[in-house]
Amino acid sequence: MLARAVAHLSEAALNANLRALSRRAGAALLLPVKAEAYGHGLDLVARVAARHPDVWGLAVATPIEAERLARLDLGRPVVLLSPAAPEEVGPLADLGVRLPVASLAEAGALPPHARAHLKVDTGMNRLGARPEEAVAVGRLLAERGLLEGAYTHFAIADEPDLSYAREQFARFQAVLAELPPLLAHAANGGGVLSFGALPGMALARPGLAAYGFAPPHLRAAAGLRPVQTLRARVNQRHTVRAGEGVSYGALWRAPQDTEVAVVGMGYADGYPRNATLKASVLIGGERRPVLGRICMDQMMVDVTGLDVGPGDWAELWGDGDITVSEVAAWGDTIEYEVLTGLGARVERRMGEEGAEG
Ligand SMILES: *Cc1c(COP(=O)(O)O)cnc(C)c1O
Repeated sequence: MLARAVAHLSEAALNANLRALSRRAGAALLLPVKAEAYGHGLDLVARVAARHPDVWGLAVATPIEAERLARLDLGRPVVLLSPAAPEEVGPLADLGVRLPVASLAEAGALPPHARAHLKVDTGMNRLGARPEEAVAVGRLLAERGLLEGAYTHFAIADEPDLSYAREQFARFQAVLAELPPLLAHAANGGGVLSFGALPGMALARPGLAAYGFAPPHLRAAAGLRPVQTLRARVNQRHTVRAGEGVSYGALWRAPQDTEVAVVGMGYADGYPRNATLKASVLIGGERRPVLGRICMDQMMVDVTGLDVGPGDWAELWGDGDITVSEVAAWGDTIEYEVLTGLGARVERRMGEEGAEG
């Protein structure tokens, strides 16, 4: 069967973003590839990243992702960032997955061949040991010869006011001062772009930025390129007569006879339904409005005067006129949610741009 919608991934853009972020961080990258590499496709992204000289390792959020990634055997460390259940720890350690540790009990229960990254909660109040407990956990791990790294996570690194992140970093440094040398990491993408090099950090974990997106106030300076271009096929073209409605609820009514292309992309593919009556797509070389409600599998586009029909492609987002940032704004959400929501029906292809379909 033919692909109905394709997410084209630019290997050149990904490699360039990784290089730029590593330079800016003054550190090697522990690249987050959780949630299917932010929707881009775990295997495709991991294979390219694992060949990149600035990538130390790959980070995931769940034990299933960690297992899948470890079994690809890409020759780079796999780091699990969120806790595993006690019965998962042994199998993950057997696969070489680096495990997050946040308590004395967890540190004591690790098998002797495990490698640990001490998770310090410096103010996110999500996961990790509080700084006053983290030193003892880290020392136990070090005594057992299991301590490879330590990390924390910023709650506010993508806004101009960095004071909260600075306080978090100072707490993290105070913990590190009590531990033997290790691979420390703190910055996510916002942190890398906001702070540049952070003292003592061997690694950085930029996720969204590696896929091409920066916080609005840093966008111009960051020089990142969106990795993904999403295209979907036109599968029908027809004429709607003046006065008729289009799609559920007939929210849009034709002021005059209108040529409509039905494009095979809907909210089940991850296109935000809340973008209804705001969205546009690129089609036939122009930016054209989506008409009426976005459906589960389709959207209707005004193609009056354009020479496009079944089999032609519409671009939903990419590196050009319409970005994921704009689509996210139409959908009243953020780039993270749009990208990670990209549906399983959308085929992912890694390569260079230009190749249609
Ligand atoms: C997801 C995640 C990141 C990456 O965050 P971005 O904002 O995408 O750069 C880094 N560290 C941890 C612990 C995460 O969960």
